[in-house]
Amino acid sequence: MPLGKREVVGVVVDSKISTREIDTSKLKSVKATLDEQPILPENILKLAGWMSRYYLHEFSSSFLLALPKLLRDGEPATLAAEKWLSLTIAGEALEPAQLKRSEKQQALLSFVQQQRRCSLKSAKEHGHDSAQVKALEKKNFIEVEAVSLHEPVAASGQLNEPSLRLNDDQQHALAHLNETGFQATLLEGVTGSGKTEVYLQAIERCLKQGRRALVLVPEIGLTPQTLRRFQNRFADEVISLHSGLSDNQRKNNWLKASLGQAAILIGTRSAILTPIPDLGLIVVDEEHDQSYKQQDTLRYQARDIALMRARNEGIPIILGTATPSLESLHHARNGHYSYLQLNQRAAGQSLPHVETVDMRKQDQRQGLSEKMLLRIKEHLGDGNQVLLFLNRRGYAPSWFCEDCGWIADCVYCDAHLTHHRHNNLNICHHCGFQQAPVRQCPNCHSHEVSAMGTGTERAEELLAECFAEVPIIRFDSNITSTRKKFEEQLKQTEVPGPAIIIGTQMLAKGHHFERVTLVGIWDIDTGLFSADLRARERMGQLLTQVAGRSGRGSKRGEVLIQTHYPDNPIFEPLLKHDYRQFAVELLEERQRTGLPPFGYLAVIRADSPYAERCEARLKEMAHYLIGLGTVRVLGPLPALMSRRAGKHRYMIIVQSDKRSTLHQALNPLHKHYPREAQQVSWHIDIDPADL
Ligand code: ADP
Ligand code: ZN
Ligand code: ZN
Repeated sequence: MPLGKREVVGVVVDSKISTREIDTSKLKSVKATLDEQPILPENILKLAGWMSRYYLHEFSSSFLLALPKLLRDGEPATLAAEKWLSLTIAGEALEPAQLKRSEKQQALLSFVQQQRRCSLKSAKEHGHDSAQVKALEKKNFIEVEAVSLHEPVAASGQLNEPSLRLNDDQQHALAHLNETGFQATLLEGVTGSGKTEVYLQAIERCLKQGRRALVLVPEIGLTPQTLRRFQNRFADEVISLHSGLSDNQRKNNWLKASLGQAAILIGTRSAILTPIPDLGLIVVDEEHDQSYKQQDTLRYQARDIALMRARNEGIPIILGTATPSLESLHHARNGHYSYLQLNQRAAGQSLPHVETVDMRKQDQRQGLSEKMLLRIKEHLGDGNQVLLFLNRRGYAPSWFCEDCGWIADCVYCDAHLTHHRHNNLNICHHCGFQQAPVRQCPNCHSHEVSAMGTGTERAEELLAECFAEVPIIRFDSNITSTRKKFEEQLKQTEVPGPAIIIGTQMLAKGHHFERVTLVGIWDIDTGLFSADLRARERMGQLLTQVAGRSGRGSKRGEVLIQTHYPDNPIFEPLLKHDYRQFAVELLEERQRTGLPPFGYLAVIRADSPYAERCEARLKEMAHYLIGLGTVRVLGPLPALMSRRAGKHRYMIIVQSDKRSTLHQALNPLHKHYPREAQQVSWHIDIDPADL
């Protein structure tokens, strides 16, 4: 439609507006109607509306998030033609066993009989190939049509491979998930305890009721394995939505899901807004994972949207993880959610043996201790794989003493200072205190003080020197930037024989490395002292998850953690195999300080090429908010990364004991302060993931 001199795609979201107050002679006509039918159903519009109110963002952005790019750009909502298989009357009547001498054709026939109608693509994903399709077509048992089908395909819940026999804990969990209607359940199960098997069987039940399921996974990296596992299990069509797909694939998969042609949708964060008719169950796998929180534009938390969607649609939702977020754990403990636990590894493997290596007492080669080198050698010698983890999160490191482990602290807070490289200052992120980094340790007078952080890039080089004959498989965002690359690396880990797998926290995410027996935490110290609100929660989760990669096969695993701070309580959840106790202690601390989930937070961040303007704008806002007298306000403070892409960044933190009070205070800000003015732009982040 025309808008000024431009031509844009318009979206009708409501038709109840009265035309009486509008001078209709001034209205222009639309040029073309793109869709005859509404492309978003009522429930999704409602959810998008809630999102925009909750996150204090325009309705259009949450609404547009619900649509794949090509539909946003105005392409019509029609599926590409695709080959569909359906039974002929003869095929319906035929017992597959009558197809003598061809087991493959029998398998395909019973597959189509289960589905009644299925796409060729789905048949191929389930291991059938064109030869059998042609054969059955020739014998007139099935028909193959290239059509753009717009009808739903009923979910059957038929299985391709039998499900596993559940152990007692799993059975107990599945029995409790039997309810229909809204019910949120935290499924807390140690790594390898068989949570996925529980999802699969809960989904099977859902599909057998003729309903569909939505599974959220944190990252594209998780999708190939998970997708395969679901496709192997179910005869029904399983499709995925994630950023690794082309725009066309996304549009097609989105349409298939929204037309009800897939029984299961597996997707990342933004898939939560995909329309799915007769949705009967939502699973959020690795619910603690940070990637559920979008960190720009509309800063939403997909897990929370999923909970809202399940509530709106009156269906159960399972939040699964080995390391619950403090929010979910809190709700489970106070009875808002059902709380189910799987405390043993499913196939009976024991949890790995965990030990810290005191780096103050070790000879080392570029941050790799003698002890670690020795253990790596032993495990490789036994023909096993070793996984080495380097924490490379984007925090500025701390300022510390190599000789005694002293770290620069804030004078006014119980917090470590964060070292900022660009202006060479140590800054406190809680109160804004700053100081030039000392050159001599005030504790032991050593001159070996510096920014903490090992040369992570050299890790691979060093390993190649030490273990020349062993393949080294690296996982980090440089190497595994595409899905294909990632899958290649994964494939390599399946090659028999010893190998070293090395990488960042990407490795912590759900991968099942069958033959890893030693997990070495190479460098974790830089992350121990981040000033971030959730740093300790995350670190506990990360360590537990990484350690969980060890000994998942038949051999008992071992975990070695290199650290200058072996007494740091962060290691307790691991050493004692008790993440829960650790998390409960963190919760108690949060309660004392009124932090989430006991209080509610928002951050207002601003950036500008001009530091003073940026700070001044936030000062005005802080002043306004303080004047309301309803919320607590902290700041303006420099942001954790105080300069990015040439812009200065500041923030204020707003806190309240009540969610509604927080929203009331923040709601009018957009009216009072333009989003962008005098080269300062700002935004609100509700329930921030980091500060
Ligand atoms: P999680 O999702 O908790 O990490 P998975 O469901 O991936 O755990 O299970 C871990 C491993 O244990 C997988 O190889 C899986 O096939 C196996 N497994 C799960 N449940 C059972 C069971 N009841 N009996 C035997 N093996 C199981
Ligand atoms: Zn301070
Ligand atoms: Zn010292």
